[in-house]
Amino acid sequence: MPAPALFIGHGSPMNAIEDTPSSRGWAEIARGFPKPAAIVVVSAHWVTDGVRVMSNAHPRTIHDFGHGFPQTLFEQQYSAPGDPALTRKIVETLSPFAAEPDDSWGLDHGAWSVLKHMYPNADIPVVQVSLDGARAPAAHYEIGKLLASLRDDDVAVMGSGNIVHNLPAFFRHQGQATPWDNEFDAFVLDAIARRDHNAVIAYTTHNLAARAAPDWEHFTPLIYTLAAQREGEDAQIFNHYFFPGIAMTSIAFGLPQ
Ligand code: ZN
Repeated sequence: MPAPALFIGHGSPMNAIEDTPSSRGWAEIARGFPKPAAIVVVSAHWVTDGVRVMSNAHPRTIHDFGHGFPQTLFEQQYSAPGDPALTRKIVETLSPFAAEPDDSWGLDHGAWSVLKHMYPNADIPVVQVSLDGARAPAAHYEIGKLLASLRDDDVAVMGSGNIVHNLPAFFRHQGQATPWDNEFDAFVLDAIARRDHNAVIAYTTHNLAARAAPDWEHFTPLIYTLAAQREGEDAQIFNHYFFPGIAMTSIAFGLPQ
């Protein structure tokens, strides 16, 4: 059977070093399917001009978060290998979108803060694919459709972002629930349950999108995961909880029954 497709709500980089409901959920989901041969990650934190595919054999750990986080977070290293052969294959697969290999990147925290809990031994090769900032949601879906074929080669596809991501709201409403977040999240999950991918692709037309999902780069990894959904695969929802302005909601397709 094909390797799974996952969407991970990654939230705060602190999940990398803390025992949280999210980090426990990530570890648990990884125990629920056989170790894949490799993982391709589309992270909210790698936005480029054009489609880029990480080509490093030994990707560096990128500490792409601001000051104010503890030194221990900046000292974290996640030493999973890259997979240059897989990179070449992805570049070829995404040639309709003029994808190019890129050795400037490594693993950003959208990838490693999660993978550290899924695969603490860093023994699964990881290749990141960037988000092309010039593309519309429908084009991201088409790119995701092409990436989805990798699942047949035992390569798991993982989008990493957040369905609800509004950091100003997070700080403004600290400790207080923001009901529109739940409502927007419910709209997305309902569309997924009905396999209405078009509704998700058109998410910006939802009346709460500007408040709940103003950050396209955090929402768009979900579109890649949906593009990898196959016939007969139902969504398994996990880590379904909220902070003000943040949904940790995570989704898996294609787990063994
Ligand atoms: Zn993020």
